[in-house]
Amino acid sequence: MKHIVVIGGGVGGVSAASRLAARGFSVDLFEAGPRTGGKMNVVEFDGCLFDTGPTLLTMPFVLDDFFREMKSSLASELNLRAVDPACRYLWSDGTSMDIPFDVNQIPDAIATISEHDGVAFTSWINHAKEVYDLTKDTFIFAPFDGFGEFFKRRNLPLLPHIHRLRTLTSFHRHNSSYFHDRRILQFADRFATYNGSNPYEAPATLMVIPWVEFGFGAWYPQGGMARVAEAMTSAGQRHGLRVHTSTAVRKIVVTGQKVRGVELADGSFVAADHVISNVDVTTTRRDLVGESIRPPRTPSLAGFVILASVDGTHDLPHHTVLFSDDYQKEFHQLFTQRTYADDPTIYISRSCVTDSALAPEGRENWFILVNAPALPTTSEPLTDPHFAERYGERIFARLRQAGLKVNIRSVRYRTAVDMEREWNSPYGSLYGAASNSPLSAFLRPRQQSTRLSNLWYVGGSAHPGGGIPLVTVSGGLAADLITSMELS
Ligand SMILES: Cc1cc2nc3c(=O)[nH]c(=O)nc-3n(C[C@H](O)[C@H](O)[C@H](O)COP(=O)(O)OP(=O)(O)OC[C@H]3O[C@@H](n4cnc5c(N)ncnc54)[C@H](O)[C@@H]3O)c2cc1C
Repeated sequence: MKHIVVIGGGVGGVSAASRLAARGFSVDLFEAGPRTGGKMNVVEFDGCLFDTGPTLLTMPFVLDDFFREMKSSLASELNLRAVDPACRYLWSDGTSMDIPFDVNQIPDAIATISEHDGVAFTSWINHAKEVYDLTKDTFIFAPFDGFGEFFKRRNLPLLPHIHRLRTLTSFHRHNSSYFHDRRILQFADRFATYNGSNPYEAPATLMVIPWVEFGFGAWYPQGGMARVAEAMTSAGQRHGLRVHTSTAVRKIVVTGQKVRGVELADGSFVAADHVISNVDVTTTRRDLVGESIRPPRTPSLAGFVILASVDGTHDLPHHTVLFSDDYQKEFHQLFTQRTYADDPTIYISRSCVTDSALAPEGRENWFILVNAPALPTTSEPLTDPHFAERYGERIFARLRQAGLKVNIRSVRYRTAVDMEREWNSPYGSLYGAASNSPLSAFLRPRQQSTRLSNLWYVGGSAHPGGGIPLVTVSGGLAADLITSMELS
């Protein structure tokens, strides 16, 4: 029986490891941290449970595919709840807009701000759906060959429609061609940040992101996001997957053009026929293989996260976004000046709204995220122990200005430095390289290493990209490629 080692128990790693175990391979997964889940994890304090990374689940059918391969189903593993409204959007002029879960009701919600844009939403989202349907089997659900894809017979039907992808138009320009009101435009542009990109530079092809949220819905699992990784891990274990937590891999051992196995932090050697790395691709190649490589030109955004247990109950839905007054300036600061924005857009998730068991009665679990520049930044040093408190205070001041008074009981901050250290994510980036250029999708590392034929990459920095559904897919693609290689 072929033996496979998976390095890292993020969702991408667990997806690959579990599927291969279910197909009869002998699989060992080594995770440096105390639990699987990686960025999708949980912190508990003051009686509240907090998500550490993802707070929103989209494309649930991807998880259903995974669990079906595990001889189970999404419905029997997780209790997913529809989040309705999907999100409340607030502006400093007092405007408030609730976007409903049901895509058919969104035009009316937008029309409360701009009648024209309410009508425009339907054409905008239909265009996005068309592009998703055209591209999903090439850019998401199949192994990707970079520019080689253009020469494949199966992609020929895409060619007459290629102009609809608007690859050479920025996402912001594309959105401006539909929406007139600056607030609705800001709402549309925000979806570029779902993979840590800049809406003023990223290609309009990112329009598929809002379609995915509105078309397939915004969901939350009962018990918190980390339940997803837990359920995926248990499913793999039922098929014989061996999970070794608190066990870091120090090195990938290579002879010639082949990987022979891995060396663990305690110096022991584990032989493998294939090694799958769920660690960021740049870190894998540079630190684990020892290659001298150049990092991605534009890392995706990092995050500044505040976890706060808050007294009282607030009249807010599960997800709220308070927009900055000057979005263009915010992205200029984040990407060009590589500094923290002085007027950041603030995202708040209070999962206790959807699952009351996540906080004691009369208390709320606030997860606050603002976009942060990838490291190194030109801001004051993040290692300054008071930086997080100072920046946090600025965010709370903005919330107070918007009428959101928060009575904090206990608070914890997580900066890009923590994210880099904790998840081994270079620059603290949340999603590997940003998709700020039309070529980004083509340059994203594919599953199989181009140099070492039995080394594979899965997770947010590899094809097809970041976010829970996509990293789950990346694990599935690696598992399929290894299976077909071994069976041929
Ligand atoms: C703040 C934040 C908010 C987000 N919001 C959302 C959201 O709402 N919806 C969504 O879909 N996505 C969201 N994401 C993105 C999503 O969380 C990630 O894309 C996804 O979880 C990444 O999974 P991964 O497979 O790349 O592995 P990662 O989560 O990056 O995990 C990699 C694992 O490898 C381990 N590791 C690293 N080095 C070693 C080593 N040498 N040996 C052993 N183990 C090692 C790490 O400990 C880690 O557990 C968010 C991310 C963050 C941080």
